[in-house]
Amino acid sequence: MQNIQAAVLRRKGRPLKIEPLEMEGPRDDEVLVRIVATGICRTDIDIIDDWDEASQPVVLGHEGAGVVEQVGRKVKSVKCRDHVVLSYQSCGRCRKCRKERPMDCNRFWDANFGFQRLDGSNALQKSGVRGHFFGQSSFSTHSLATERNLVKVSKVLPLEVLAPLGCGMQTGAGTVMNSLRVPAGSAIAVFGTGSVGLAAIMAARIVGANPIIGVDINPMRLQLAQELGATHTIDNRQGEVAAGIAAITGSGVDYVMEITGEPEMFELAVEVLNPNGTVAIFSGASAPGSLPGGRKAYSIIEGDAVPQRFIPKLISLYRAGRFPFDRRIKYYGFSEINAAIADAKRGDTIKPVLRVSEQ
Ligand SMILES: [Zn+2]
Ligand SMILES: [Zn+2]
Repeated sequence: MQNIQAAVLRRKGRPLKIEPLEMEGPRDDEVLVRIVATGICRTDIDIIDDWDEASQPVVLGHEGAGVVEQVGRKVKSVKCRDHVVLSYQSCGRCRKCRKERPMDCNRFWDANFGFQRLDGSNALQKSGVRGHFFGQSSFSTHSLATERNLVKVSKVLPLEVLAPLGCGMQTGAGTVMNSLRVPAGSAIAVFGTGSVGLAAIMAARIVGANPIIGVDINPMRLQLAQELGATHTIDNRQGEVAAGIAAITGSGVDYVMEITGEPEMFELAVEVLNPNGTVAIFSGASAPGSLPGGRKAYSIIEGDAVPQRFIPKLISLYRAGRFPFDRRIKYYGFSEINAAIADAKRGDTIKPVLRVSEQ
């Protein structure tokens, strides 16, 4: 048993409370990670706001980064004191997982949103709280992860910078590079230039898309979109998105990333899409697939990224100065978690990262 401190969600829409909990030690296939920093992602916030109070309390957090403290007997790829970034969980056994498509895992939902291990057990059972969110529950001083959702990283870079790579950055950049495989010279529009959208814009610049059009209602985010690679931005408070895109491209765009989740923005995405173009959505809802005129709509999960391959790639692009995702991070102490969530909801902070312990 480990004595840990974790931010517990007990009531819908209410502040999380940092509480002492008892956590089981790592099983044979698990790794105990001391969390140094964790990002806060939109999904954490959505779950807080939609929480069913009849459920047992839970620990959220799925962009953890930290230092390995203990490894189970069957763990081969990491040892104590290694630095790791945590990402989404998968079963490792189904056909999709065996074909290196963990984002399509048959048990993706259970492994990431089940708040328990895949065998139904829960390491926080003794405290009456459920963990294992995305195989990590990183709003905590310690997490249990497995080799499937951890990525060993160099000790040269601060873990507090790397934390958001595990979900938001991977999703945004992965959609451009893996899911859509946007070719150089294609026209792309990004609806919603928060953390995922800005990662997509940086990736679109890397692959040579042109134009790259950022659409948002927040001037601060549009400004940043421009600095990070958008060739044009459109402030949607003034409407006129379709006319703006037509003026820039002369027709429409080949790709839209629709990150806002608003139904009217999906309709707009279809409207501005060129024939044979593709719109990517992120709500988790299933997309219609084919649309009129050879257009397509796909629902994207984790940017079709295999974390152990894609996160190191993003780190090398970062080190080369081509993927400066750290410019959107604002740091908070662990005890400031509720302020960080409030800032993210207001749009004042694009990517909050909590400092949980010293590296
Ligand atoms: Zn699987
Ligand atoms: Zn996320």
